[in-house]
Amino acid sequence: SIPLGFFGGIGGASAHGVLVKGSNYLEALSKTETVVFDKTGTLTKGVFNVTEIVTEGITKEELLEMAAYAESYSNHPISVSLLKAYGKKIDNSKISDVEEIPGHGVKAAVYNKIILAGNAKLMKSKGIKYADSDNITGTIVHIAIDGIYKGYIVISDEIKADSKKAIENLKKLGIQKTVMLTGDSRKVGEKVAEELGLDLVYAELLPGDKVEKVEKLLAEKPKNKNLSFVGDGINDAPVLARADVGIAMGGLGSDAAIEAADIVIMNDEPSKIATTIKIAKKTLNIVR
Ligand code: ADP
Ligand code: MG
Repeated sequence: SIPLGFFGGIGGASAHGVLVKGSNYLEALSKTETVVFDKTGTLTKGVFNVTEIVTEGITKEELLEMAAYAESYSNHPISVSLLKAYGKKIDNSKISDVEEIPGHGVKAAVYNKIILAGNAKLMKSKGIKYADSDNITGTIVHIAIDGIYKGYIVISDEIKADSKKAIENLKKLGIQKTVMLTGDSRKVGEKVAEELGLDLVYAELLPGDKVEKVEKLLAEKPKNKNLSFVGDGINDAPVLARADVGIAMGGLGSDAAIEAADIVIMNDEPSKIATTIKIAKKTLNIVR
């Protein structure tokens, strides 16, 4: 039987818009000492604005159009943002053979041309020479049409209003290690980590690399303590499942993430993690 105090804990969390799927997760959460975050959509808004378009032998409008068409079947925050920046209706009959390549980007046939839109890893894997964008702080989407490089779109995301407070509050609760994992560039990753005061950042990770990092962090923590992972679930459902406690963002998050998570933050505010840990600790003291 479940001690009565747990119901108070789950109810208390739900009053803050946090769905806890079982009393065991409150207990596990109370023992958290490492909190690992995904970047996009978790600590940042996941809403990118276009800041620059650089082209080779094509107009900026055409480049954005090709990117938007290629991205139109994906629900990745980058895709959604590029479609919004394009702003016009997409004629789906012009698109076929769509392939989403996690941690890389997308490939699609648009007007019978093969479009690649994604990061440097994607261009490298397809043997396409791309512009050097090392000096740019921003997320870069390179575009190639029929194997020929056509330029890149720089997009940038904003840190959520309460992310900084979220990290501060975790430290006040005695969380030993705050970590961010991202598939984005080192430059973007380090900038966000520094602004937020995170202890560690790992960038340029593929979805599988994220699982590996979490396993390494799980092995490093004391046996009687836990690791919680917080993500929006886009490309990180396997990590959510691997952590001691998987926490998903419920608003922006994918249905798969909400399904895979133990705890769901309905309004996407990362500060709710500390709030819930506090509730979990109080509940445990009452229960014992
Ligand atoms: P994260 O959530 O950490 O950003 P993802 O695995 O979702 O990690 O993406 C990692 C990187 O892969 C992105 O920063 C981007 O460079 C590239 N990428 C992923 N999906 C897309 C996409 N649909 N379009 C363009 N680039 C993408
Ligand atoms: Mg993600």
